[in-house]
Amino acid sequence: MKISKKDLKDLIPKLKERKTNEVLKWAADIYKGKIVLTTSLGPEDQVILDIIQNHSLPIHAFTIDTGRLFNETYELIEKTETHYGIKIRTYFPDTSEIEETINSSGINMFYKSIEQRKQCCKIRKVNPLNRALKEVECWITGLRKDQSKSREKQNILSWDQTREILKINPLINWTEQQVWDYIKKNNVPYNTLHKKGYPSIGCACCTKEVIQGEHFRTGRWWWEANEHKECGIHILDGKLVRTGSK
Ligand code: SF4
Repeated sequence: MKISKKDLKDLIPKLKERKTNEVLKWAADIYKGKIVLTTSLGPEDQVILDIIQNHSLPIHAFTIDTGRLFNETYELIEKTETHYGIKIRTYFPDTSEIEETINSSGINMFYKSIEQRKQCCKIRKVNPLNRALKEVECWITGLRKDQSKSREKQNILSWDQTREILKINPLINWTEQQVWDYIKKNNVPYNTLHKKGYPSIGCACCTKEVIQGEHFRTGRWWWEANEHKECGIHILDGKLVRTGSK
């Protein structure tokens, strides 16, 4: 039976007690073929993908190619596909939207104002994501509570009010250390930029390295004040939730 918003209150405490692979299997059994992992190839997404593959769960993964990603991210897509023998489906922005925006506002318009940056994130990330999620009833993300203040309110399950589908955050209670311990122990492929001072990786033109001790989000949209740093992918109780490596 499909899950509705009113079921979450009872389900959350029960699922919190289960192992990550059990939560994913529970969801895969309910949403047969209508469940996806949305991956930006961040460490959390790679851990979830590894668990899915190790347990042969019928959950496919997709990513969004904004057209401005690091070459290292493209290399990781290929490496991950080879490692698991899978295809990660890729969604792209609408060509005419990109052409119209670039021709009217400039190739690097996102540096000019917060509004233009958000417009770029909308056409390159949010619109393709919305198109991809139209085909499913449940999506899996790599959100963790300790990534930001706004994420502390997230739970293992949440209701995506914008798209009216279930969102599962199986690593929500994991720490960053747990994620990296899992990656090392299980030989999970990860982005080589993480070793070069990039804890959070998005588009190449909007991400730079951080120095030790700085918040992991400092390098994302570094020219903007913290409160503006979101791209519109995650919404909780009608408010935007800041993103990690998305
Ligand atoms: Fe555009 Fe930068 Fe957002 Fe990428 S991160 S979609 S380049 S504004």
